[in-house]
Amino acid sequence: MIITIDGPSGTGKSTVAKGVAKRLGFLFFDTGAMYRSLAWKLTEQNISLTDEAAIQGLLDRFQYDIQTTREGEKHYFVGGVDVTSQIRTQEISLLASQVSSLPFVRKALVKIQRSFGHRVNAVFEGRDMGTVVFPDAELKIFLTAKPEVRAERRYRELLLKFPDLADSLSKEQILSEIEERDHNDRTRAVSPLRQAADALLIDTSELTSEEVIGRIADAKKKICGRKPFDPMKFSYALVYHSVRVFFKLFYRLRICGLSHFQKGAAIIAANHASFFDPPVISISCPEEVHFLARESLFRIPLLGRLIRILNSHPVARDSSDASTFRQLIQLLGQGEKVILFPEGKRSKDGDLQPLEKGLSFLVYKARCRIQPVYVAGAREAWPRGRKFPHLFGRISCVFGSPIEWEEFETLEKRVAMEKITERTEQAIRSLKHWFEEGARGDPP
Ligand code: C5P
Repeated sequence: MIITIDGPSGTGKSTVAKGVAKRLGFLFFDTGAMYRSLAWKLTEQNISLTDEAAIQGLLDRFQYDIQTTREGEKHYFVGGVDVTSQIRTQEISLLASQVSSLPFVRKALVKIQRSFGHRVNAVFEGRDMGTVVFPDAELKIFLTAKPEVRAERRYRELLLKFPDLADSLSKEQILSEIEERDHNDRTRAVSPLRQAADALLIDTSELTSEEVIGRIADAKKKICGRKPFDPMKFSYALVYHSVRVFFKLFYRLRICGLSHFQKGAAIIAANHASFFDPPVISISCPEEVHFLARESLFRIPLLGRLIRILNSHPVARDSSDASTFRQLIQLLGQGEKVILFPEGKRSKDGDLQPLEKGLSFLVYKARCRIQPVYVAGAREAWPRGRKFPHLFGRISCVFGSPIEWEEFETLEKRVAMEKITERTEQAIRSLKHWFEEGARGDPP
């Protein structure tokens, strides 16, 4: 899902966009930083705004990189140089606004922005996100605010980042700089700043950023209510609902934390103590998911058919891990969800065993989200070593907050893989703890 947030400077776009992304577990892209980074490169190379050939040459070699710190702060790099603070000066602000009016510059940067938006849940902040870059975005927001409020906000921002500069500027000067940039942005021939016809307009003058974030989160909730997850195939839906009724009736299935479940590619990482775990998780999810099953299970007449319909994929006993791995990467690349039991085998006593390395390899390669899940009661309903399950029981499936790939993207490979394993194990453990402590409120 893509949420676009557009509007002039000083309306609180960045703070709000970051906050919305954090609240919803989405990625966040500040596209202004991209125009600013290009402007920085122009000054560094002493290239004039009128020298289009040189700017085009720069764009052809433009090495732009975004990294996220452990604290969740973004750092912007141009050709390996960290330009995060240098791109926030007054001079760069104005130059970014000027360079962004060149059509060939916009064309090149819009292409990069669209590539970032492929198959992800993300908030994109800028000027033309809802009108040009993502005209099909599911939710579009346009922020405005009174000029004096915007000047005051810009002044406070400068005071924080460049106190000396802020001291040397009057609020009138800041206001006139903002108005000049607005004028450039609104009147340029290509992709001028304007509200998309289907965007929700929010005037932030009298609102705190938390209030604005709340409004956007509510708007997103409404949209999700209208257009939930992708519809299931008929055969999948038939088996899904029948198996769901079965578990509800015989095992009083309880599903918690579904608000943590999001669209898009993810590895659903769960504890494993019973043969019941894969079907219980599948039918607790609100959309189609995939899982792996031993090839021999597919040869059992009815069961084989049923699990095939439920998107299970056979894993041959003697097949190499590499082919299974490739299959999983392919599914994740198509935006699908895959259930994985990172402990490798079923736990004997129901305690979470140390996680194997497979999960971290997969997450590292697919750069996808991890959706932690804890299943309770399945082991009691169908313990290890029993040929058939008990006929009654009580099973719960608990969804926890997703772990975003962004948490690991700046880490060196070995450290990232260790961290992925550690975070997932910790997340499943805290779901178990939450459940055993009485399952009150939302799961962590
Ligand atoms: O949002 P920010 O103030 O950092 O953007 C810097 C400048 O980059 C803006 O004044 C605007 O001219 C340009 N910009 C743009 N299109 C975007 C984002 C920013 O033209 N999507």
